[in-house]
Amino acid sequence: MDPVELLKEKLLLACKIFQSQKLFDGFGHVTLRAAEDRILSTPKMPPGKVSMRDFIILNMEGEKLEGFGEPNGETPMHISIYRARPEVKCILHYHPDELIAASVVEQGVKVVANCGVFFYQGTPIFDSPSLIVTPALGDDLARVLAGHNSILLRGHGATVVSGDLDELVRLGINLVKNVRIQIMASVLGAPKAHSEAESRSIVELETQGNALRRFLDYYISETVD
Ligand SMILES: [Zn+2]
Repeated sequence: MDPVELLKEKLLLACKIFQSQKLFDGFGHVTLRAAEDRILSTPKMPPGKVSMRDFIILNMEGEKLEGFGEPNGETPMHISIYRARPEVKCILHYHPDELIAASVVEQGVKVVANCGVFFYQGTPIFDSPSLIVTPALGDDLARVLAGHNSILLRGHGATVVSGDLDELVRLGINLVKNVRIQIMASVLGAPKAHSEAESRSIVELETQGNALRRFLDYYISETVD
């Protein structure tokens, strides 16, 4: 199979998983670095509704090279992150209610559950509700993201990055799940967060053996065509 077609299939599955978990609304986008200077992207349409024929290919200026649909307005965010972080191979941008709620309070994301341990190094908050539609805003966001794997955009949503698409799916789901638990716990009292050492030891377990595979198998099984 053509490698690009294979990447499209993987990206399609990721989109279906996020959609089945109700993490997408009509907006949001997922991109994948298909080659040094080629980005595979969902086009300007509800990302959970894409099919193979919808994906577009962009260059590193964010210009469309192949495909029918138009690039998303926030493509500059993806481009800036890919330029700043050579190890990043895929990016998710979405707007789950839980993450927007966490983005407007000072505490941001706290690691309160084992599903949140991947975020122990912190999730910075981009302190603006602006859509990231210019290279200057994209660069600003990439600077705040720095070396982290996630960032909240105040009153807007969140962006998650990874060097691996399977891992991106796990991070995208787990960020929301952790924050949902954080919000629930906050109603009961002040949540106790994991220490860095506690988080690290669980990350170690979760990155061994078939842990990621098992995680994905469950969510793949939950997708419906
Ligand atoms: Zn957005």
